[in-house]
Amino acid sequence: MGSLISADETFDEHEHACSPIAFEQEAFHCDGDRHASIRVPKGAHLVDLGLKNKVVLITGGAKGIGAAIARTIGQEGAIPVIIDRDREASEELHAELQQFHGDSYLVVAELNTAEACFAAVEQTFKKLGRIDALVNNAGVNDRVGLEKGSPDQFVASLQRNLLHYYNMAHYALPHLKRSAGSIVSISSKTAVTGQGGTSGYVASKGAILAMTREWAVELLPYGIRVNAVVPAEVMTPLYQQWLSKFPNPQEKLKATVARIPLGKRMTTSEEIAAMVVFLISCKASHVTGQHLYVDGGYVHLDRALT
Ligand code: NAP
Repeated sequence: MGSLISADETFDEHEHACSPIAFEQEAFHCDGDRHASIRVPKGAHLVDLGLKNKVVLITGGAKGIGAAIARTIGQEGAIPVIIDRDREASEELHAELQQFHGDSYLVVAELNTAEACFAAVEQTFKKLGRIDALVNNAGVNDRVGLEKGSPDQFVASLQRNLLHYYNMAHYALPHLKRSAGSIVSISSKTAVTGQGGTSGYVASKGAILAMTREWAVELLPYGIRVNAVVPAEVMTPLYQQWLSKFPNPQEKLKATVARIPLGKRMTTSEEIAAMVVFLISCKASHVTGQHLYVDGGYVHLDRALT
């Protein structure tokens, strides 16, 4: 972990006058696998994101990006609700959150049916009495391709990657209307770049971007904001699994990292989480219908650099 920030490490006020966030606590700023400390501008203070006691549902919240979102939300004083099918990982994270960050809630569920989504939302509401935000995050790059795939497998992939995004939002909506809450959906760079051999996943991720705009329009009258975060390359259990299918995973990883413009490194789960937490916070109060690429410039800067 990064080292603690000491007073004598502070910047001159004018040197970093625009820096919006300062950390007085252990900070994460990753340079590949190496954690380094972030220094604090003199006179700066923590930004209050206004998330204290807000109830935030996170699908796929037990591992990878979802777990980082749950931790970051917990650090902000909100109540993360982990909704995940992996019981062991969910319980482990739930225990950690309760110990270090205060309140959290857990729903162990496979979200592949509308009934399961309804039950997850209602169980949370019964227990916590409100829902302030939904983070649609669960998904799996399941390689159902055009050639190597079938109509039935394609539909099953949509069920794994898309339908529960709609179902969770549909059932959470009455509660979000009451709280004038917000929705953030995790898409993927593959929605705009393609990947090859994974039609179901990419169709889902593209639809998630389209639904983000559509829901942002539909929910304007309720003041509910809807945004999408688009990661590219983030080292998580899912990514490791995907990588392991290549004949030489280390070579593949090296080649991928070399193509990431900013810092030639993977994005960290915490960097995705920081964007999500900003988007659900009051500091993003005029941001809706947006697709935020948190990818070190992977999708948009490559043409400029090659
Ligand atoms: P991860 O490491 O597999 O973590 C996701 C968690 O969600 C796992 O615990 C998984 O359980 C659970 N889950 C998946 N489908 C579920 C379902 N239907 N019901 C309940 N739980 C479910 O994945 P990740 O890499 O953090 O990815 C999170 C999101 O980011 C996904 O939507 C993914 O498409 C997107 N994304 C990731 C990357 C990347 O580089 N990692 C890039 C672009 C987009 P199991 O372990 O049992 O599957």
